[in-house]
Amino acid sequence: MTHHQPQIDTSPKVSDEIRKTTCYMCACRCGINVHMKKDDEGEMRVAYIEGNRDHPVNQGVLCAKGSAGIMQVNAPSRLKAPLKRVGPRGSGQFEEISWDEALEIATGHLSRIRETNPEKLAFFTGRDQSQSFTGFWAQAYGTPNFAAHGGFCSVNMATAGIYTMGGAFWEFGQPDWDRSKLFMLFGVAEDHDSNPIKMGLSKLKARGAKIIGVNPIRSGYNAIADEWVGITPGTDGLFILSLAHELLKAGKIDLEYLTRFTNAPVLVNGDEKSDEFGLLLRDKDNKFMVIDRVTGKPTAFDKKGVKPDLAATYRDKGITHRPVFQHLSERYMSDEYAPEAVADRCGIPAGRIRAIAAELARVAFDEAFEIEQEWTDFRGEKHKTMTGRPVSFHSMRGISAHSNGFQTCRALHVLQILLGTVEAPGGFRFKPPYPKPSEAHPKPHCKVTPGAPLDGPHLGYVQGPDDLMLKEDGSPARIDKAYTWENPMSAHGLMHMVISNAHAGDPYKIDTLFMYMANMSWNSSMNTKGVMEMLTDKDENGDYVIPNIIYSDAYSSEMVAYADLVLPDTTYLERHDCISLLDRPICEADAAADAIRWPVIEPDRDVRGFQSVLVDLGARLGMPGFVNEDGSAKYKDYADYIVNHERKPGIGPLSGFRGENGDQFGRGDVNPDQMDRYIENGGFAVHHIPEEAAFYKPWNMAYQDWAVKTGIYDAPQPYLFNLYVEPLRKFQLAAEGHGLRQPPEHLRERIKETLDPLPVWYAPFEDDNVDTEEFTVHALTQRPMAMYHSWGTQNAWLRQLHGRNPMYLPTKIFTEKGFEDGDWAKITSAHGEITVPVAHHGGLNDNTIWTWNAIGKRKGTWALDEAAPEATKGFLLNHLIHELQPPKGDGLRWANSDPVTGQAAWFDLRVKIEKVSGPPEESQPGFDPIKSPVGTGPKDLAWKVGK
Ligand code: SF4
Repeated sequence: MTHHQPQIDTSPKVSDEIRKTTCYMCACRCGINVHMKKDDEGEMRVAYIEGNRDHPVNQGVLCAKGSAGIMQVNAPSRLKAPLKRVGPRGSGQFEEISWDEALEIATGHLSRIRETNPEKLAFFTGRDQSQSFTGFWAQAYGTPNFAAHGGFCSVNMATAGIYTMGGAFWEFGQPDWDRSKLFMLFGVAEDHDSNPIKMGLSKLKARGAKIIGVNPIRSGYNAIADEWVGITPGTDGLFILSLAHELLKAGKIDLEYLTRFTNAPVLVNGDEKSDEFGLLLRDKDNKFMVIDRVTGKPTAFDKKGVKPDLAATYRDKGITHRPVFQHLSERYMSDEYAPEAVADRCGIPAGRIRAIAAELARVAFDEAFEIEQEWTDFRGEKHKTMTGRPVSFHSMRGISAHSNGFQTCRALHVLQILLGTVEAPGGFRFKPPYPKPSEAHPKPHCKVTPGAPLDGPHLGYVQGPDDLMLKEDGSPARIDKAYTWENPMSAHGLMHMVISNAHAGDPYKIDTLFMYMANMSWNSSMNTKGVMEMLTDKDENGDYVIPNIIYSDAYSSEMVAYADLVLPDTTYLERHDCISLLDRPICEADAAADAIRWPVIEPDRDVRGFQSVLVDLGARLGMPGFVNEDGSAKYKDYADYIVNHERKPGIGPLSGFRGENGDQFGRGDVNPDQMDRYIENGGFAVHHIPEEAAFYKPWNMAYQDWAVKTGIYDAPQPYLFNLYVEPLRKFQLAAEGHGLRQPPEHLRERIKETLDPLPVWYAPFEDDNVDTEEFTVHALTQRPMAMYHSWGTQNAWLRQLHGRNPMYLPTKIFTEKGFEDGDWAKITSAHGEITVPVAHHGGLNDNTIWTWNAIGKRKGTWALDEAAPEATKGFLLNHLIHELQPPKGDGLRWANSDPVTGQAAWFDLRVKIEKVSGPPEESQPGFDPIKSPVGTGPKDLAWKVGK
């Protein structure tokens, strides 16, 4: 009998068409191929998503979130039409209205405020990727009250990096994955960032490079590290400075690098009686002065042939001025930073600190290498090779979301610089448009004129007290009190303080709160219950204290219920977007690049992309930049803006395919076909950096010239890295009584202590504010690899991975208190309490507990069943954290933020834990269900396309 093999189609046609765009399931901006199939009606529908192999960010790699994007675009929680509130605020009772009516209501509020007092509008956006556009809109509107979410995310990292070296991690730069031999990772949750880090880690592993993970929690990236350092939260700065202590004592620092490329040799004014005490000495052309080793004389730092001297001093009129390096080495070589002095506090044995310092030194110096590549520095000096120092670092929110986070991030950047690894082969490499020193960024602006634009961009980098955003009477100009004496360098604003300040009328009351993609009544706020009360609170007349709330979101999130008007956004596959060099681009260390999103499917609901709605509102309000001279709308929609807007002549949101023939990158005339060219090219454009410009970018003239040619810089801007940040010293000087602009008395001592021009460590504020004998335990959150904030929780695939979130306890606490998996605990902070399920986690700092962020959901939201695990067993740690420090008895409201940047100090939290014998049915606190404006999703979500 003949056996017939069955005919199996081993390579079935998977789709009818592939559309290439950019993922938005997290903030990494990977390229994706969206496979489309025709349904029975002939409509194209998404069949599946894969990574785009040609894309510079992910080179084909796709994560669980990215592939689950398909379930994001068919999620039952998607808003369907504009909504007008009909029940009390917070109830979730809405009626659907037309876009005409919605835009009329919005225009009514916005035009009234704009014509009378634009500061009465607070416009804040969440994790969107269009801040150069939303900022442009807010500036044209004229309110000083605009920022995105950086203030409650990682502004400490970004700001410390910009002031220290003109860039930081993630979007600013990346480790040299191909050459690094030792990689240290501090405080990084698995998603921050995601695919690019995973790809880099796999390269390191494949080459046998060593990975050291420093994190109280051993999960994700830390779980694959060769060495895990389970540090005590809030002590990273102390640990890092102790590493610096060891390196300085052993002489294992890159003196040549420090001399040439940093302000280590720059002289510091030593005249204690002067208003310039502690500032950097300058010549008559305002150039920093160093002592030239050849002449022994003070000389401009950038003079051709100058050989700066780190050891010399300059004596003038009886005053001795010493270089930065002497101040730095004196401080960090002191016993205060010796491993023995910090070991207990950090929870790391002194011997281990020494061993890590020795390992850093060994790899940086004993494994140094040369690349045969000539280059010329900004002093005109030619170098035959580029010296590799194969040690690199990465860090994000774990070390920055503390009240000592700015100085901790500064310390990490200084550590890299001492080793000479920044912009050296094997070390950390900037991505265009970085490096960009703080002086090359705009300063913030706040001058309000009714009916007219703001006097300049909202956000920027202050250089001293004169740049603070204060009114004539000294009160804060912004609702979030950014750029005030409370937090002078708040370069991303303080979104987490907006609702609290607006409710308190401190510094003033507002009329309309306009927010986008920020779940402020739930996982994006501290003091979640309090925020809900602030949003619904009424005054003595029975009117809401925050009179109007307009909110835009694609999904039925918790915040929707607190809006009076909801503008429904599209999902990321239904919209145009631009991931711009003006904003947060997709560049690599070897290339400038940007990308688009475009509607690979059309919305099947009455929704509009939020940015297109802003374009429309801008035209309705007659805002400059949004209307032509005759008053007609300048742009049809956001796509039209992306292609036709010019920020400066020849510079627009997209850099690729510019000019008449579409063959220019960076600078070039508007090309009406630009969007189509991006789509043809896979959704992105790349422009490579010449090899001689690949390293030493801040000082390499080949890079400087390339950056000017591509429109990234207006002119060459070489600069020195700031081991010593002079603007910080200017604030300290003011606190010491110098200058006309003076801080309030209650802030003087804090400014003197915390705005130190050299990195300093001080205990997190919570340690002083609560009884640490009672609240002995640190409590943290992390974002899971498979979820990006709340976005993924309604995703039918992803919620199968993280439908609930236990509180993880370390072995010590777990056993001492007699817990078993599945038990419940009452966790109490100085602010509140939660009762939640626990689980054991062996890979944890002994004194730290943690849970996943944003898994818990409020009943009635995200189209989830009220009995869904997210709404019954899931919970938020946010209930335990307050946006203010506990009252000090002085009647003042002290923000729970970093005193330099205002970053929310999420991770300062201290708690105590008790086992609960009769656990509740559901996690506590519970809240009344919200009426869902989109109903509840079906039990099974079926999605079948094609035959
Ligand atoms: S890391 Fe994953 S979710 Fe994030 S952009 Fe890339 S594919 Fe999308």
